[in-house]
Amino acid sequence: MAKQAKYVFFFGDGKAEGNGKMKELLGGKGANLAEMAGHPDLRLPVPPGFTITTEVCTFYYDHGRKYPPQLKEQVNAALRRAEKILGRKFGDRENPLLFSVRSGARSSMPGMMETVLNIGLTSKTIDGLIRQTTGGRAEKNGNQSSTSQAERFAYDAYRRLIMMYSDVVMEKAAGVEPAEDQGIRRQLERILEAKKHERGAKTDTDLDAADLKEVCSRFKEKIVEVLGKPFPDDPVEQLWGGVGAVFASWNGKRAISYRRIENIPDAWGTAVNVQAMVFGNMGEDCATGVAFTRDPGTGDNRFYGEYLINAQGEDVVAGIRTPAPINESSKSEHNAHEISLEKAMPRVYKELHGIQKRLERHYRDMQDIEFTIERGRLFMLQCRVGKRNGPAAVRMAIDMLKEKLITREDAVKRVTASQLDELLHPVLDPKAEQAAKPIARGLPAGPGGASGGIVFTAADAVEAAKQGKHVILVREETNPEDVEGMRAAQAILTARGGMTSHAALVARGWGKCCVVGCAAVEVDLKRREMHVGGKVYKEFDEISLNGSKGAVYEGKLPKVDASEGNETLGAFLALCDKIRRLKVRTNADTPEDARRARSFGAEGIGLFRTEHMFYGETSEKPLQKLRKMILARTEEQRKAAIDELFPFVKEDIKRTLEAMDGLPVTIRLLDPPLHEFVPHDEMQLAELAKEIGMSFEEAKKRADGLHETNPMMGHRGVRLGITYPEVTAMQVRAIFEAAAELLVAKKAVFPEIMVPVVGVDTELEDQIRIIARIHDETAKSKGLKKIPHLVGTMIEVPRAALRAADLAKTAQFFSYGTNDLTQLTFAFSRDDAGAFLPEYVAKKILPEDPFQSLDQAGVGELIEIGISRGRGVKPDLKIGICGEHGGDAASVKFCHRVGMDYVSCSPFRVPIARLAAAQAVIEESAKKSAAVPPRRRATAPPRGRAAASTKATNGASRNGKRKVRRATVKAR
Ligand code: PEP
Ligand code: MG
Repeated sequence: MAKQAKYVFFFGDGKAEGNGKMKELLGGKGANLAEMAGHPDLRLPVPPGFTITTEVCTFYYDHGRKYPPQLKEQVNAALRRAEKILGRKFGDRENPLLFSVRSGARSSMPGMMETVLNIGLTSKTIDGLIRQTTGGRAEKNGNQSSTSQAERFAYDAYRRLIMMYSDVVMEKAAGVEPAEDQGIRRQLERILEAKKHERGAKTDTDLDAADLKEVCSRFKEKIVEVLGKPFPDDPVEQLWGGVGAVFASWNGKRAISYRRIENIPDAWGTAVNVQAMVFGNMGEDCATGVAFTRDPGTGDNRFYGEYLINAQGEDVVAGIRTPAPINESSKSEHNAHEISLEKAMPRVYKELHGIQKRLERHYRDMQDIEFTIERGRLFMLQCRVGKRNGPAAVRMAIDMLKEKLITREDAVKRVTASQLDELLHPVLDPKAEQAAKPIARGLPAGPGGASGGIVFTAADAVEAAKQGKHVILVREETNPEDVEGMRAAQAILTARGGMTSHAALVARGWGKCCVVGCAAVEVDLKRREMHVGGKVYKEFDEISLNGSKGAVYEGKLPKVDASEGNETLGAFLALCDKIRRLKVRTNADTPEDARRARSFGAEGIGLFRTEHMFYGETSEKPLQKLRKMILARTEEQRKAAIDELFPFVKEDIKRTLEAMDGLPVTIRLLDPPLHEFVPHDEMQLAELAKEIGMSFEEAKKRADGLHETNPMMGHRGVRLGITYPEVTAMQVRAIFEAAAELLVAKKAVFPEIMVPVVGVDTELEDQIRIIARIHDETAKSKGLKKIPHLVGTMIEVPRAALRAADLAKTAQFFSYGTNDLTQLTFAFSRDDAGAFLPEYVAKKILPEDPFQSLDQAGVGELIEIGISRGRGVKPDLKIGICGEHGGDAASVKFCHRVGMDYVSCSPFRVPIARLAAAQAVIEESAKKSAAVPPRRRATAPPRGRAAASTKATNGASRNGKRKVRRATVKAR
């Protein structure tokens, strides 16, 4: 006979049929209950119960909401086991057993599904519950007050059951859709409110047993009146009603939308946990609480938590009463006067303390635990891996490694990119943020948190900053002329623009808080007003931004500096460095950025955008020369202007090369369309014309002539170098002279010259000829044989990726410019995509913003083709990425997988790239060992060594991968 399918897994009394690894079948909560109850190392006091598996949920939906035939029998058997353990009976008049029914999906879906407590309480069992509660004490002592207390407790439990059950089972699960504000819960709440009013009671706890008894009967009458059937007085009917409601709630509106957001498959289904009720609200010897095995806010290795005497779990969570600290070390200035559990119930506290230690050792991670104390007896209700903030995550990883609780690889896996990001910038105080409601949302362009008064122009920002004011620059969009204001402001908010728009790039480079593409914001520059959702904000009205989430808040929210644990951060990143293969460089445009990036661990500059010397603080003079060059009428005039510009460019490059002390510095030739540098404002243009000795009309004509309809696809990048070879020559000479002078001064330098926006090999060859000529001339003039350098190209045009084999003939390196490559592959303008991309993401047309996280399927395929074809010609071609994706964790992992040599990103994202590159190695070796048949796997070296050896084997596997690719994607 075939083995009967098992749908019910029992736990309790030191035994469990399931275990912690069975999350798919038992859900997260069920698996952890089984582990706590039954694992030989734990065997904790868990109230007995059972889990109905997720397979039943799937069956239920596949079979028109019916259960498998064996289920009833299996549930009954499990009920009997629980009864036996507790010596109580479900539905018994004398000594009733009550159950809770809770959902539990594979991954936590907080608050999305239903729970029903106190199941089994009926008109027949309630007296039994009262007797249990007094524990016979009242009868023995004739103690009237303890009887009425017990009665109050029982009717309070009863009214909660009636309300929860009618709402969850009889209305929601039954598909009843009441009119607005006419739901059964609301109607019952009104009855409770009326009773409180009648009795002059402020809170529920001011009502006595008689009041609650009356409330219960009124509730029942109302249910018949509204729902047309009575509240069931039968425990078994209640139980199955509860189970059905949990399964039904898997397909409730809330749960479905949550699954969409979190990408949880519909097919997973939920499990149902049926567990004996224990009460933390039976009297003063009862309590309930929530605790963490380490401090989730700091990572300190101390037991941390809160509890409430004589209360139910939901009272702690809902914040109806202020909880007390669990122990003396959890006390803060807000609750120092409260009595800790450690003092109030020392014996139980000691037991709890021992349990939390065992749990952490067992799971080898910080646990979030829920417990209840019923009449001095401790019960564990739940445990799961605890959520933590960035500083705490890093601290715990390092501490647990030192304590030998986890391996080096575990430690690196424990910290997420966004947690690491928190450590690098001040952030809005999470508590204050939770209590505030955002007035608008945009794209999270620059990390951290900031608050300040609104200003609307760059000049106002500069002026306000001079007066010591903290301001936020709010613009429709920003352009290079705003740079000074952006620097001066605490943060930047723009109504338009995407993740690679000007504001976003600049802000990220500085590690400045920035929200872009915030469509709800309307800027009225003339009136100096910002309009959001019908409300008007005037100049200097305070707002706060969370640039890591893209949220905008009214008023000034407090900030917390998360950068403290820096020593720990250094130790953590050093761990990552031991594991990773990818090199991490930075996109830096000034010597200051270069120095900062080195302090964050950058191993070179992957992108030095020459044009950035024409923006910002010291740009006035070189910008004037550049403008003179742009507006020149004749080649002669242009050459003269170029000569004037030359020393500025050389000095800038020299200082950066020097700051990088021999590390490679990729210097990109001028990229943006020239008209970007010409003043838009007529007054400024007139001033410039005067300065450079040109009539206003003529300057205007030249400026108008430079105007392009589609500048991003216009006269930019290598096209400038081809039409103005003297501009390329000047820049290259500046690079070689700077390098040569440093070499002569015995300093180490390594420039890499990079040509942007190349699509055709002949473009690159044209520029290489100029570069070679200038190299030879400069080396000769400086008395050097050679100036060490490389010449390479950006791959940022789809044609370049496809024709990578042509380009690799002359290029010594490739650097993927994935900002432009994304723009040109999707045909999404990077400056205007903010108008539709958020909606694309909201509607799941795209899983995420492709300017933020690389589109691995589409743009990624072009990258892979380019790598394979390029290396088909030149096997050791150095390949990196310098688009914004170089600092996005998922994209960095992709770069590792496709065999790049390095990623380059803004200075503040260097640590994130170091982390992601290490995680990529760990994920890769986990995948490999999963692919090895079990017998071979058993002979693999132990964990620590396995990971250490990945580094050595990686190169080989990368070459192997290259070979395979070369064979499949033929170099053309
Ligand atoms: C790119 O296109 O990815 C790139 C790095 O260049 P820019 O953003 O300056 O166009
Ligand atoms: Mg580009």
